[in-house]
Amino acid sequence: YKFSLNDLIDDGIIGEGSFGTVCKMKHEKSGTMMAVKYIRSTADEQCQKQMLIELDIVMRENTCPHIIQFYGALLEEGDCWICMELMNTSLDHFYKFIYHKLNQFIPENILAYITLSTLQALDYMKSRWKIIHRDVKPSNILVSRTAIKLCDFGISGKLIDSITKTRDAGYRPYLPPERIDPMRATGDGYDVRSDVWSFGITIYEICTGYFPFREWKSVFDQLQQIVEGPPLKLTIDRLSDDCKDFVNICLNKDENQRPKYKQLLEHSFVQKANNLQQKENTIAYLSDIIDDLEKNTDTFRLCYYLP
Ligand code: ADP
Ligand code: MG
Repeated sequence: YKFSLNDLIDDGIIGEGSFGTVCKMKHEKSGTMMAVKYIRSTADEQCQKQMLIELDIVMRENTCPHIIQFYGALLEEGDCWICMELMNTSLDHFYKFIYHKLNQFIPENILAYITLSTLQALDYMKSRWKIIHRDVKPSNILVSRTAIKLCDFGISGKLIDSITKTRDAGYRPYLPPERIDPMRATGDGYDVRSDVWSFGITIYEICTGYFPFREWKSVFDQLQQIVEGPPLKLTIDRLSDDCKDFVNICLNKDENQRPKYKQLLEHSFVQKANNLQQKENTIAYLSDIIDDLEKNTDTFRLCYYLP
């Protein structure tokens, strides 16, 4: 039903992104807790409208269990608040906590289920709504005790584009070679396969515990490493050939040879995770880690780890 900002009680900041802040808020009448993302009025009107249309569509009919639930969007003088389901954490915090605080690996069957969930969400948005995400990364994959859910589709990419048009290019570590290389500028068309690359980097990261590249000093530095450097390959003995193959085909530098979602969904790495038993194993694991994480919030700070 309808509600306004006055019905919400602020309950503290959850996190801050490149162009907004996410807060925990309580809807007073119903007691519902939600995550509210506030976006400063930087985006141009056209882009904001488009964003709200997309949100609205997904709000009305979200039949994918791996897409975050939206409660509504509030607009005021160009500022924008997006209200959504509150989750416990995002995949970036989650994997860094496991690898660097608990000093454990994420078991491969769990990795496979997380990969499958994200893939199903991306495929759903593309095939059902023709929405390309444009900002696939670990912080846009949210984790609760019972599910893995994708958020920020269609929002971030378009916003970033509209902001970067007016400001400097900015730091976008998950961009594929074809989006960085000025010689291959593909104009405004953003292909799903660019998302497949970002998805590949994301899965690489949760498999290893590290972002695969060292921090770049400039966009030129990034261009040199990603466009001109050798292809990135996941090679770790601990992981199965299935797992490595899945990640490595997503990281093909030639976007025309990168698989699309339908093909990835048939890959045996995720097919093996596609059953109730794996879902239950994953839920039990998520629950345990989140219990641990919540006990550790004061001592654990998010930071960057070098490979
Ligand atoms: P970014 O995705 O670039 O980190 P955002 O502004 O989208 O920036 O989000 C900031 C942080 O807020 C995320 O890193 C995530 O940890 C957290 N967050 C976002 N949405 C939710 C949500 N619905 N539930 C819980 N945490 C969230
Ligand atoms: Mg985000």
